[in-house]
Amino acid sequence: MKRIFSGVQPTGNLHLGNYLGAIRNWVRLQHEYESIFCVVDMHAITVWQDPAELTRTTREVTAAFLAAGIDPERCVIFHQSAVPGHAQLAWIMNCVVRMGWMNRMTQFKEKAGKHRENASVGLFAYPALMAADILLYKATHVPVGEDQKQHLELTRDAAQKFNTDFGRAVFPLTEPLILGAATRVMSLRDGTKKMSKSETSDFSRINLTDDADLIAQKIRKAKTDPEPLPREVDGLEGRPEAANLVGIYAALADTPREAVLAELGGQPFSAFKQALTDLAVSTLGPMNAEMNRLLANPDEIDAILKRGAERAQAIAGPVLDEVYDTVGFLRV
Ligand code: ATP
Ligand code: MG
Repeated sequence: MKRIFSGVQPTGNLHLGNYLGAIRNWVRLQHEYESIFCVVDMHAITVWQDPAELTRTTREVTAAFLAAGIDPERCVIFHQSAVPGHAQLAWIMNCVVRMGWMNRMTQFKEKAGKHRENASVGLFAYPALMAADILLYKATHVPVGEDQKQHLELTRDAAQKFNTDFGRAVFPLTEPLILGAATRVMSLRDGTKKMSKSETSDFSRINLTDDADLIAQKIRKAKTDPEPLPREVDGLEGRPEAANLVGIYAALADTPREAVLAELGGQPFSAFKQALTDLAVSTLGPMNAEMNRLLANPDEIDAILKRGAERAQAIAGPVLDEVYDTVGFLRV
């Protein structure tokens, strides 16, 4: 059986990186895999979240899943805190993963920044919760952006260690699925930094909720260099901002970068940026409209999450029982 699990944190504005690196791939994969998609609100609170805002963004991420074309009949769509097994298995994973493994995680270093002593323990333990999320469903594949590769390696190590420690092949060794032309979309302001929800400058990203004017403005202001667009992919070397915009165009148009440059190479950035704006607006516009329609009907979103949580629980319950029995927790 092939089963995918993946999630998005309700930490702020969903952006083009989340869409191209993750959600859009899920829309395709839902036809090939049994699919479980989660709004990971427990991950979100590893850094401070305003409670009312967390509730709102939990619905907003769900609306984005649906507006992108994820079918709630075919897939399980739910939010993490609604299924207690995530927290329960996370504790066991905390006891399986080693400090040395966790100390190597680059996301923690980036997010904790200089003030590591002030970071929450949850932010440090994040990868153990992520391993629990995936293993609670015995997911065989996890479609994510490139930034999550290291966490998935840790998930495999955790599964392997658990299986070895207890002498039972309880968990599969999960494979990452890192797909498409935009597996790492970079900030529009700095081509060496990942586009992120939690980045303070809104002009660093294109949000799925941005209207056409704002998208145009952000692309116009996106950092570039003075050279025209190259005609070949080699010419993008050492030009991170140009490479990023071409990668975004290629992903949105669903065409190789070579084809984009064959068509648009040689032009000044102003012309390319106009073409990119038109493409982004025509792709994101209809999704934006559907998200707004859904957000005006929160009951519809909540009903989908409730049903999703019941279906997720039905899969997770027996797995957690098996894990408890394996560990030796008395079930009376
Ligand atoms: P945060 O800054 O709060 O961590 P984020 O933008 O990194 O937010 P996540 O919710 O952590 O978003 O990640 C959701 C999914 O989006 C993951 O699969 C992740 O790999 C993917 N993703 C995030 N940023 C990018 C990006 N810039 N390019 C491609 N994929 C991305
Ligand atoms: Mg992230």
